[in-house]
Amino acid sequence: MKIDVLTIFPEMFTGPMDASIIGRAREKGILSVNTHDVRAYTTNKHRRVDDTPFGGGAGMVMNAQPFFDALAALCGPQEQRDPLRSRVALLTPQGAVFNQAKARELSGLQQLVLICGRYEGIDDRVRQAWVDEEISIGDYVLTGGELPAMVVIDAVARLLPGTLGDETSAEEESFSDGLLEYPQYTKPALFRGMEAPPELLSGHHEAIRRWRRKEAFKRTYQKRPELLIGRPFPFDDRVLLAE
Ligand code: SAM
Repeated sequence: MKIDVLTIFPEMFTGPMDASIIGRAREKGILSVNTHDVRAYTTNKHRRVDDTPFGGGAGMVMNAQPFFDALAALCGPQEQRDPLRSRVALLTPQGAVFNQAKARELSGLQQLVLICGRYEGIDDRVRQAWVDEEISIGDYVLTGGELPAMVVIDAVARLLPGTLGDETSAEEESFSDGLLEYPQYTKPALFRGMEAPPELLSGHHEAIRRWRRKEAFKRTYQKRPELLIGRPFPFDDRVLLAE
């Protein structure tokens, strides 16, 4: 998968995009992350990327021109784009709130272009002409789209086949099947008077599976009960929870 990021602060991505799981995915050739300095696409001699808002008001607005030129260079002609293979997403607090289902959907693309705004945002004509979807990472306002872009990249990268060492780990964790993950424990079995659950020490695979499933339901009910509303409730789970 190829992720292209449009930003005026490409240096923010150095480090976070090289470390740990994302770094490994890039080394393995599973993922490429390329940052593009929007300033390099400006046609004015001072390399300015912003101007005062029409209609007045506080702050500055990013010009449409460098984004249009950068997107044309990255995506080719607008009319030939296939949003199922290549998607342009704008990071904005006005977008749909990002979640695991969206991360999974995006991980199936060949190319994802992420647009990071700054100041009061970007001239709306960029959104109108190029943006397939708008993504928010939560109902709060940050100073720029760079951190949100990194959040999206991290969540998507770990879902790409081959990125995680153990292929099952992304399948079992929180949100993957609409539940929060069960509690995890590791050695020692007894720590400061607190014991790890005996089911997990039993070596009995079915007992472990059942304990984990029950705990996942319990946790979800306690912490995020709204996740259970409207969720399919398979027969096996009903039997398990009735025990
Ligand atoms: N004036 C804009 C508004 O009220 O909607 C907010 C602009 S914000 C200060 C600057 C940039 O940060 C935005 O263009 C966007 O790219 C990014 N940003 C801020 N908060 C965000 C969030 N919660 N999710 C995604 N991007 C965000």
